[in-house]
Amino acid sequence: MKSYTVKIESIYHVTPDVLRIVVNKPLWFDFEPGRATEISINKDAWLKEKRPFTMTSLPENNFLEFMIKTYPERKGVTNELLHLKKDDELILHDVFGAIAYKGEGVFIAGGAGVTPFISILRDLKVKDKIGKNMLLFANKTKADILLEKEFENLLGTAFVNILSDEQVDGYSFGRITEEFLKENIENFNQQFYLCGPPPMMKEMEETLKNLGVNTDLITKETY
Ligand SMILES: Cc1cc2nc3c(=O)[nH]c(=O)nc-3n(C[C@H](O)[C@H](O)[C@H](O)COP(=O)(O)OP(=O)(O)OC[C@H]3O[C@@H](n4cnc5c(N)ncnc54)[C@H](O)[C@@H]3O)c2cc1C
Repeated sequence: MKSYTVKIESIYHVTPDVLRIVVNKPLWFDFEPGRATEISINKDAWLKEKRPFTMTSLPENNFLEFMIKTYPERKGVTNELLHLKKDDELILHDVFGAIAYKGEGVFIAGGAGVTPFISILRDLKVKDKIGKNMLLFANKTKADILLEKEFENLLGTAFVNILSDEQVDGYSFGRITEEFLKENIENFNQQFYLCGPPPMMKEMEETLKNLGVNTDLITKETY
């Protein structure tokens, strides 16, 4: 198994729960947009604790970017990341992951589950291939929406937000239901990309199947 020691170039909150961490990109660290690596913290007590995180930067960038939701109450790796600062070190491992772009379709994300779609959509933009791709993004509150401005710029009206815990003018309210999907999606015979917490993933897959989506068209990762 490969491992790469990298230095934190910057680390700060982009939403109340999510840290943006930028590290130097090791030579030979190649990946396809949507892929992840296992990360551990280069401190004696934390070396063996590896957790999967997705690269949100583009393969051609000379840095690696991660967007990481922190869970202080679990006292695990993401809590420890909250105590790190510039020049502290992380260890990256092999690249893996279920999500890669397979063609135009609908990206459905819950919270930090949007991370594999960040690199994919940025990559499509660079290649001028955003086309009719759309992103349905479920969050608790407006403050939790990761990269809202950037997604607006990338996708325009094909970026649709839904909030479960806050009613805000111009934003859908509630959960992603069959009705919500029917209101927002014209074609159910295209690619569907799902990423989010386990209950949401289970529900989304069942709902899409009820709407006639062929399972071969569903690409998913559970966070
Ligand atoms: C392929 C892949 C890519 C991913 N990419 C990203 C990404 O880019 N950004 C991102 O934010 N996340 C991502 N995730 C999710 C991320 O890996 C987890 O959030 C992370 O591993 C949590 O690590 P942790 O050590 O803080 O907590 P954990 O290892 O989840 O938990 C530590 C301990 O807390 C307890 N615990 C676990 N779950 C709960 C719970 N629900 N409630 C209470 N206690 C609990 C358990 O005792 C556990 O041992 C990805 C996941 C996968 C599979």
